[in-house]
Amino acid sequence: MSVPARPSRASAFSLRMSTDPSSLALPHVTRLHAYTPGLQPTGAGWVKLNTNECPYPPSPRVAEAVRREVGADGASLRLYPNPKSSPLRVALARYHGRAENEVCVGNGSDDILNLLVRVFAGEKAATGFTLPSYSLYPVLVAIQDGACETIEFDRSMRLPVDRIAATKAGIFFLTSPNAPTGVAFPNAEIECVLRAFPGLVVVDEAYAPFAAENAVSLLDRHENLVVVRTFSKAYALAGIRVGYALARAGVIDLLDRVRDSYNVNRLSQAAALAALEDQPYFEGLVARVRATRDAQLRAFAARGWFTYPSQANFIFTEPRDARGTTGRAVAESAYRFLYDRKVLVRHFPSHALTAPFLRITVGTDDEMLVLNQTLDAWLKAPPNA
Ligand SMILES: *Cc1c(COP(=O)(O)O)cnc(C)c1O
Repeated sequence: MSVPARPSRASAFSLRMSTDPSSLALPHVTRLHAYTPGLQPTGAGWVKLNTNECPYPPSPRVAEAVRREVGADGASLRLYPNPKSSPLRVALARYHGRAENEVCVGNGSDDILNLLVRVFAGEKAATGFTLPSYSLYPVLVAIQDGACETIEFDRSMRLPVDRIAATKAGIFFLTSPNAPTGVAFPNAEIECVLRAFPGLVVVDEAYAPFAAENAVSLLDRHENLVVVRTFSKAYALAGIRVGYALARAGVIDLLDRVRDSYNVNRLSQAAALAALEDQPYFEGLVARVRATRDAQLRAFAARGWFTYPSQANFIFTEPRDARGTTGRAVAESAYRFLYDRKVLVRHFPSHALTAPFLRITVGTDDEMLVLNQTLDAWLKAPPNA
């Protein structure tokens, strides 16, 4: 019996050298498409209404706290941060009337969503979410090689409670107020889902501070509820990346087992804590954004544009051109016209329910004036101007 010659060291080496490392990736990863964030233009002069950031600066206490944390010489930066973000957890627990072990802090709420998917989602445990909603969910599930169950809205954007309850998913992500529509789901309907759906219900409340209602009070009655919040939108702190989950202690314990041990850096912990402690400033920010939003909703109504009743810091509106036409091409035309004049909004052409619409972040009153004037110019412009 002849034994095949062993490859010499030299040829094994060259074999290994010739392997394209990317071919070693897990098959599901090679098929992945990363989440597409909104544009972050670097030049000056943009009216940036595309990623739902706050148009106002955060509480002045935030910069003070960050400077204090850095200190005169940055010596504190030698040391790892508090691994559990404990002072922030304690403050958040007090703020929401929960126990400390019912809060988990993340590097943005995206980190929290990722932890939830890591713990609860897989090939056998499907992940449910609505379409349209936050387009990060399917990306996180795909990274995990998990299965998705999607529930399509109709144009009413009302919550399809019965269809959600009937899914076989183990975890369901519900965005309320929803993105990109801004429509908030009443607690009574969320509670119907919590009762009828046997899995875990994650209510992603990135925009809840701008809404009339939120689901935190439902935590007492429903073990299968997770509420996810962020400092990015209403606290004007998208740049520091802090978000958190509120849930029963057992769920929080699982999230803590899979997260990075130092997932929130020192400066971010200090910044979020300072912002949370300045509630009067926070309430002022939210009130200003809501007032501008409501004025802009009236402005779109006066134009005769169909617009969902936003409870968020953005508005989802259906542009209608001078001839009264709506649709994907009209929305695309308005988007282009605005973009060419450095007004940046968001268009989601890939879904039939979103393609005729633009999502416009609520900016300052001055920014909304520029938006409205540019839309007036678009209406008067010849097609393809
Ligand atoms: C902005 C947003 C988030 C992400 O928030 P970060 O805390 O900045 O990661 C989560 N969910 C929804 C629906 C959002 O719009």
